[in-house]
Amino acid sequence: MGKTREQLNTLPMLLKDKKSKKGGDTMGSTTVKVKLPEKVSMAKAVREYCLQCGGGQPVEVRDCRVTDCPLFAYRFGRNPKASITYLKQYYNVEIIQ
Ligand code: SF4
Repeated sequence: MGKTREQLNTLPMLLKDKKSKKGGDTMGSTTVKVKLPEKVSMAKAVREYCLQCGGGQPVEVRDCRVTDCPLFAYRFGRNPKASITYLKQYYNVEIIQ
């Protein structure tokens, strides 16, 4: 893991900036970098992010304790209900609120 809550919130804060209706920055000279993904779903992108957060170790992502992280429910690269179904094949699953 190793990222602070503040660091994890950086990207969502940028995405939440809706001052411009076209999604751009209101500062005319500011450049925003955009990269087109190659068939990567949002869920898989979250998984990749979580793996980076966990130092590339899937076990670190599985055992993540940052339950208030906005990505927590999606860290397995599937929607949360699909994750529960999948995980129940291998683990005792405790559903938290
Ligand atoms: S849910 Fe993912 S991004 Fe959030 S702290 Fe856990 S491993 Fe890191």
